Amino acid sequence: MSHTNRTNAIVVGASLSGLMTGIALAREGLTVTILEKVGDEQRTGSGLQVSSGMFETSKTARLLRKLASGGKKSVQLWSAIEYRLRREALSDPNITIQYNTRVDALGQDADSAWVETHDGNTLYSDILIGADGHRSLVREHVAPHHPDASYAGYIVWIIDTVSEDDLPLDQQPVKQRTGVQMFNGPNGFLFGNILESEGELGDKGKRRVGCAWYDNSRSDILYELGCVQGDVVHHSLKGPDIPDETIAELKHLTRDIWPEPWKSATLYALETRKLTGIPIKEYAPDKLANGRIAIIGDAAHVPAPITASGFNESVDDAVDLGKCVAKGVEGGDAIEALDTYESMRLNKVRQMVLSGKSFSRSFGRK
Ligand SMILES: Cc1cc2nc3c(=O)[nH]c(=O)nc-3n(C[C@H](O)[C@H](O)[C@H](O)COP(=O)(O)OP(=O)(O)OC[C@H]3O[C@@H](n4cnc5c(N)ncnc54)[C@H](O)[C@@H]3O)c2cc1C
Repeated sequence: MSHTNRTNAIVVGASLSGLMTGIALAREGLTVTILEKVGDEQRTGSGLQVSSGMFETSKTARLLRKLASGGKKSVQLWSAIEYRLRREALSDPNITIQYNTRVDALGQDADSAWVETHDGNTLYSDILIGADGHRSLVREHVAPHHPDASYAGYIVWIIDTVSEDDLPLDQQPVKQRTGVQMFNGPNGFLFGNILESEGELGDKGKRRVGCAWYDNSRSDILYELGCVQGDVVHHSLKGPDIPDETIAELKHLTRDIWPEPWKSATLYALETRKLTGIPIKEYAPDKLANGRIAIIGDAAHVPAPITASGFNESVDDAVDLGKCVAKGVEGGDAIEALDTYESMRLNKVRQMVLSGKSFSRSFGRK
């Protein structure tokens, strides 16, 4: 069957895993179309622990680790990682990124995989990779018997990073070095970070202060607001949707327990509602591929963040997938390539998720 709107690989999702997958596949000579449901505006997050991959042997692994880590062994701003990966992907003539394009349906037959997008287009490919995060639509096709990640019993408040210039003068982190510190509180703990911006948010050379606040006392409100239904996480709690009483409680706790400059950064985020409550979920896979369709990153495995492994394993997913398609993806080679990908990755990523479950069992309260 010949289709004019055909590419070698469709990747669903242009966040970190989708971009890395696009780069890895394009380096093997595949034409790649990445479809992303949100627009192309720069998104923000907090910090991510990235391993620099000093001992990587393959060129693609070294490239992806360098882009992810900025060449440094440290926690990186999520936005900085995304910025570098996106710039690399956009400079590759084999990669097309379509933003504002939501995938609503997908399928496969003996010749092709395909997606249908929200605007009524159908796009065909030799392989289809789901990098569409923890609520993956693609996963439903790969593992229909086990489609959902389950709620782990706690939330992380991701405080959007704030430029040091936006903090009160006496609370700017003049004396602290960049890096991450951990503090304990009554119902959880806080990872506070101070990271240097590379200009992806228009403030090159400035330090940004952010934090991730793990809190096991909010399950009731997550159920009440429909963020969690049964055992399944449906959506995050965005700043503007957080009830006023919860904001007031969080402010009160922040004033009492967190040290500067994270106290000021958190109060600023609570005041401006520039934070997101992300219910923690876990997904231990028993399948990563089905025919011409496979999953990668959070679509494939969702570990407790305490493992600090989710993103680093996503880098390895992309690298290994690249190796598997080196022979090409014409005809039956596509299925063989994705089968090999599954056998290379499944056990490793499953064990990674299981390793974080005992922490969730003791800390989480459903
Ligand atoms: C804006 C943002 C900020 C983040 N900040 C942090 C952070 O600070 N610290 C941290 O540890 N982790 C953060 N994460 C999560 C982190 O990126 C992931 O846990 C990990 O890196 C794996 O990423 P992923 O690309 O597999 O999944 P995700 O980052 O979840 O990306 C999935 C992508 O798929 C897209 N998508 C989903 N469904 C569809 C569809 N049907 N059609 C088209 N596109 C679709 C989503 O819009 C999203 O861009 C953040 C994620 C996002 C999206």
